Amino acid sequence: MSILVVGSVAYDTVETPFGRAERVLGGSATFFAIAASFFAPVNLVGVVGDDFGDEQMEVLRKHGVDLQGLERSAGKTFHWQGKYSFDLNARDTIRTDLNVFEFFKPKIPAAYRRCEHVFLGNIDPVLQRDVLEQVEKPKLVVCDTMNFWISGKPEELRKTLARVDVLLINDAEARQLSGEWNIVKAARAIRALGPRALLIKKGEHGVLMFSDEGSFAAPAYPLEDVFDPTGAGDSFAGGFVGYLAGAGELNEAALRRAAVMGSTLASFCVEAFSVDRLQRLTRAEIDERFRLFKRLTHFEAI
Ligand code: AMP
Repeated sequence: MSILVVGSVAYDTVETPFGRAERVLGGSATFFAIAASFFAPVNLVGVVGDDFGDEQMEVLRKHGVDLQGLERSAGKTFHWQGKYSFDLNARDTIRTDLNVFEFFKPKIPAAYRRCEHVFLGNIDPVLQRDVLEQVEKPKLVVCDTMNFWISGKPEELRKTLARVDVLLINDAEARQLSGEWNIVKAARAIRALGPRALLIKKGEHGVLMFSDEGSFAAPAYPLEDVFDPTGAGDSFAGGFVGYLAGAGELNEAALRRAAVMGSTLASFCVEAFSVDRLQRLTRAEIDERFRLFKRLTHFEAI
């Protein structure tokens, strides 16, 4: 069962307390696609400029990502620059050069329209809805968004959320979107807007999932070395949607396993700059860490 992802393909410049990476491969669709490719075929819709290298295209191709939907426009590729302090949960955006992304209008190739699993990366909610107009009855629509759209286009975002099955956001965004400080109340208010399930990401403190069956918590994997958190959220989404597409199930047990698979892929992503760790990853390593997650969270009843 193949997956459709729409989002940014970027050059990132990232500074962490441990080093700096200049114009390396990034973007929400990139991290998502590589993470999801371990579980199911991925079709990518996005845009790059004429400066986007063959080497970067090859990274995506090597993972079997279908690039028919990756437009190449005259101009420069989207560029994002961010800086992390010792608190790797917080980052400052130093600059965002939209470049060719400014005029991006997703066009879904005919061959992608019947994808049953759709991931709407963090883009304008109007464009996210445009994508939904072009696909045929997906089984699962998962969406990401950010503070920029929550404050900038609240009404458009609400219309999009009404058509979304699962929303992935961080805790600050959940509070901003709902106007509730308490996360449980925030989750109830957000689920009333449409999403059947809500996953609230809390960086190194893991993720909370709220669904019809109540709540579920998955920790972040306790790593000794966290190098660069960029892309963790999108890798989480890739593991989450990828697992569900591969398993072909959407029940509560599958959603819980998917949340842990998301945490598994995110834990690898942060071990190196850009997609360096995801690129070298094997399915055996993923399965082994997933197993360690089971051990990490297991305890006997009294
Ligand atoms: P995250 O998973 O939240 O760490 O996402 C990081 C990725 O988001 C980076 O690789 C950036 O290229 C990309 N990004 C940052 N700002 C934006 C934006 N405004 N729109 C789309 N993508 C962005």
